[in-house]
Amino acid sequence: MSEIRYDPLFDTYTIIAPERLHRPMPHRPAELASDTPCPFCPGNEHLTPHEIFALRDGKRWRTRVVPNLYKALQIEAPRESRREGLYERWSGYGAHEIVIDTPQHDATLSTMQIEQIVAWLATLQERIRDLSKDPNLASIAIFKNSGLLAGATQPHPHTQIIASMLLPKHLLRLGEHLWHYYEEHGRALMDDIIASEKQNDRFLYETHSFCAFAPFASAFAFESIVAAKECRTLAACSQAQLQELASHLQKLMYALTQELGEFSYNLLLYEPPLRKNFQNEHYYEDLPRFYRFFVRITPRIYTLAGFELLSHEIINPVAPELAASLLRRHYAPGS
Ligand SMILES: [Zn+2]
Repeated sequence: MSEIRYDPLFDTYTIIAPERLHRPMPHRPAELASDTPCPFCPGNEHLTPHEIFALRDGKRWRTRVVPNLYKALQIEAPRESRREGLYERWSGYGAHEIVIDTPQHDATLSTMQIEQIVAWLATLQERIRDLSKDPNLASIAIFKNSGLLAGATQPHPHTQIIASMLLPKHLLRLGEHLWHYYEEHGRALMDDIIASEKQNDRFLYETHSFCAFAPFASAFAFESIVAAKECRTLAACSQAQLQELASHLQKLMYALTQELGEFSYNLLLYEPPLRKNFQNEHYYEDLPRFYRFFVRITPRIYTLAGFELLSHEIINPVAPELAASLLRRHYAPGS
């Protein structure tokens, strides 16, 4: 069973998850594309744990959700915490799920049909709504690891969801930071960032409900953000907004692929906390006023090394203005 430990030296949490020790760890691209049957392909459903959710067209599924075989957290764990002098530990209660984005093994976000990307986003919506019903879960992390350098162990397009009783400290601080900005200025920080990015050379693309740009202090080369202009959470998006977001992600991934070729990346969905807990009770009620969800794509071209681990600051050799000017060339004119 896993557990969450509080690190008093660095004021953060670590998930100790012995079950993940048994996870296959490919070290070369050839191993990632090995001959063993893909557990996420149609016909191999028996190779995954029981299905939690699926979107279907008749008998064929368009997306599936299953528990992660190598869980970092588990619903079966007891909900308890213990103090031992300086130290505090929580049982690893939570959910760790895999969303299979598409039946197509070699699809990418740049080649998938818009309808399939919408089906994937609708599946994420459904999981956010369902997991938010569990009164013990406070945070949700939704992310994709694509390619070896991004930590992927399966080549078939998939997304991971980790929901926990505790807010990771980094996300807690992000919430507090956004709240303080709102308290001081009376506006959501993301609203001000979007207004600023629209007028400079890091801008990528805008639609009614979303704006895409390369962030001013991009930590990763070709880092890009697609931010919601109003929606607090993906779960609140209408069908039309899902279409818009799908189109943004397809265009952005097409531009990135044109510029970088085949590349590893992480896709990170910044969702607000699922509910009020002892960590966020001072700002939770104000969340709708200052939180806008956003998708951050971090290409993993350069590896993180000693300085990054020591300082938690990343050295990025590609200026976001250059990255955006290169990416904009691949957005269709007038789109
Ligand atoms: Zn597959």
